[in-house]
Amino acid sequence: MSAHDLLYLVPTTVPPKVVRGDGVYVYTDDNKKILDGTGGAAVSSLGHGNREVIEYIKNQAGKVCYVHNMAFTNEPAEELAHMLVSRNPDVFARAYFANSGSEAVESAIKFALQYWQLRGEHERTHFVSRKQSYHGNTLFSLGIGKMISRRAPYEGVFPKVTSFVDPCYTYRHKKENETDEQYVYRLEKQLEDEFLVVGPNRIAAFIAETVPGAGLGCTPPVDGYFKAVRRLCDKFGILLILDEVMCGLGRTGTFHAWEQEGITPDIQTNAKTLAAGYQPISSVLVGHRVFKTFEESGTQLANFHTYQAHPLACSAAVGVQKIMARENLVQKVASTGKYLEEQLHKTFDSHPHVGDIRGRGLFWGLEFVKDKKSKQWFDPKHKVGALISKVGIKNGLFLNPGAGTYDGVHGDHLMVAPPYVITKEEVDTLISILAKSIDEAIASLP
Ligand code: PLP
Repeated sequence: MSAHDLLYLVPTTVPPKVVRGDGVYVYTDDNKKILDGTGGAAVSSLGHGNREVIEYIKNQAGKVCYVHNMAFTNEPAEELAHMLVSRNPDVFARAYFANSGSEAVESAIKFALQYWQLRGEHERTHFVSRKQSYHGNTLFSLGIGKMISRRAPYEGVFPKVTSFVDPCYTYRHKKENETDEQYVYRLEKQLEDEFLVVGPNRIAAFIAETVPGAGLGCTPPVDGYFKAVRRLCDKFGILLILDEVMCGLGRTGTFHAWEQEGITPDIQTNAKTLAAGYQPISSVLVGHRVFKTFEESGTQLANFHTYQAHPLACSAAVGVQKIMARENLVQKVASTGKYLEEQLHKTFDSHPHVGDIRGRGLFWGLEFVKDKKSKQWFDPKHKVGALISKVGIKNGLFLNPGAGTYDGVHGDHLMVAPPYVITKEEVDTLISILAKSIDEAIASLP
């Protein structure tokens, strides 16, 4: 078999072919062993080849693989919804399942729009989002994010209902001598100004990644930032949608990333570690305020996907979430994450081209700079993040790169987001291949 008929990201370049996975490693057809240091795209929380999850899927496949979700419910979908909703019964009223993170975001957006329609506030069709955010790859979810490289071919066709404010990005945006409180106040003021310019009663929702991944490289908010966001949303009645597709379900060391912020969302999206890559599935958790309006109006959701709440996908997610709970994997993320944090700092704090190391749990970003003192970025044409990632694969480590970290165009990062089951010894291996790959990639620059 050859890759001849498959369309790749770079149509002229065929990436290595993976034929097998085991734990934190994947193996290619030429028998190369690669440590999956970002678990794909922060997906494979249980690592590869988990027999127990495979049994959950096989068992469900033996019962029923698909039913039409408009006419029927199914066992694993109900069980999964119960697991997620009953964990935070004061926050969430219902769970909805789609297939990808993008579909979850689109659905969250549509629930918010329909909510305001049902409440008779027909003007509320505008969304406020943040620069460098990534909310998905379908046209609306791409339009509501600000990943310039992915938007570029489609600029001009995005719905004109989104405006963007600054993200909370300490390394580049927090001024020297500015306290956390002062920085939060500055961001709060900017957000309030944006709400007022648009007109608060025209705004359906503010959407943010609790800890941004793809666009900003795992940048946690400073203390008090999300409390300020929540306060402002409440002041103007605006819904708060938290996109935890990448950072949620244990990744940052708590089950929901917002648990570390002292706030709750009105609507939340999850995806990647929901079924840990064993099946494609995403979820939208709908809060009481929104659900009550749907319930009281008796109105049908105007949102449907053929494969929503797919029995096989839900069965995989049930298996993954049960294993997560039984093995205390969220606590393991917190403790292994501490070790990863220490090793990253020990190895790279003094590295001349690692400008910043930030993250939480097993969700860490390294931002690369040409000059550490001035924080000058590398020329974007060298695609330094992607280059280090490519050298890493050659050396036996995969890490997901990101570009445009500073302003959507300049700045490079790599994400370190390994499976939750990674051992300390495997963390050591990851760090040593990473160190070698950074030096090798940067030495190869013209
Ligand atoms: N939202 C966030 C925060 C993401 O990180 C991603 C993907 O990386 C998405 C949405 C889109 O998810 P998917 O690629 O599954 O459509």
